[in-house]
Amino acid sequence: MAKLRIRKKGDPTLRSHSRPVDKITDRIITLLDDMAETLHDADGCGLAAPQVGVRRRIVLVETEETGLLELINPEIIASEGEQLEQEGCLSIPGEWGITRRPAKVTVRALNRAGETCEYTGEGLLARAFCHEIDHLDGKLYTDPGTLVRMVDPDEDE
Ligand code: ZN
Repeated sequence: MAKLRIRKKGDPTLRSHSRPVDKITDRIITLLDDMAETLHDADGCGLAAPQVGVRRRIVLVETEETGLLELINPEIIASEGEQLEQEGCLSIPGEWGITRRPAKVTVRALNRAGETCEYTGEGLLARAFCHEIDHLDGKLYTDPGTLVRMVDPDEDE
């Protein structure tokens, strides 16, 4: 496994549209392993392939509740409600913002064995699914429509 370099805001890869994975090759498996190492090293709760410079529809999400989820060609197939909570991004270090996201989402994706899986998440998990899948379409949480406001680092909550 290898730790990959995380692209930061301003890198054009973060604004590009990622292609679906048509075949889960050894290269894709290696990418999943390397992304997991990169995510753990950065201590984040999600990472999308374009954040490491690969324009493919692959994301990782990891929470205490779920452990590590590997999502290939993920799609949000249902969402409901609304939450306004704090979010950050490994590509935008040191900043946080309040975002508007669905309260609950269901995602369908392939796992590394090529099996179709569905996951439903609320709260942090719903935010993480939305945030990471947005990366595949070149969107960041700081974009209008998602961001409510940035959080002042000195703000007491
Ligand atoms: Zn992000």
